[in-house]
Amino acid sequence: MSYKIGQCHPIARTVDANIRDIAKIPVRLKIATGTYILQTNRADFNQNKIDVVCMLCNCSEETLAHFLLGCTRLEYIRKYILEKITNTFSLLFAKYSLSVEIDLLTVVVNPYAYCITSAHIELTNDINIHLEPLCRHLIYRLHHKRYELLNIMPKTKNRKCGIKHISNFYSVVRSPLCNI
Ligand SMILES: [Zn+2]
Repeated sequence: MSYKIGQCHPIARTVDANIRDIAKIPVRLKIATGTYILQTNRADFNQNKIDVVCMLCNCSEETLAHFLLGCTRLEYIRKYILEKITNTFSLLFAKYSLSVEIDLLTVVVNPYAYCITSAHIELTNDINIHLEPLCRHLIYRLHHKRYELLNIMPKTKNRKCGIKHISNFYSVVRSPLCNI
């Protein structure tokens, strides 16, 4: 589906616009537009050498797919919501007899990518109501937990021990779950 200049993309709207949903939109938009900063794109745009490995699990490169679908440190946040997303898009895509191959990452990043003809207006509406709120919620929860895991403890340590210990914090938290 194409969107005209000046037209609001559905991702930037909420059907039931309440404060909690509105708060989720900025991070959701960053994910959809590829501007959310993970270790891999930090490395691409930084002259200093940046370690691309995920600082939460230290097991693999922190790509968008790893953050949204793979990182084991975020699995307990992700599992239930992702199951609801999978069930919902399975029902929707069966309802509209979509014969394209469904890619879970694409569904989470931008479910409207599957609204490819003008005949898909009803699908767009269904995604607005049933699927996009789940994707938005998943992204916000993952972002919030990632932020919390990466920042709250360093700040506490920083206050007590001085800034030089921030790097020590990362070397400590990056090790525990990684040899699974
Ligand atoms: Zn990870």
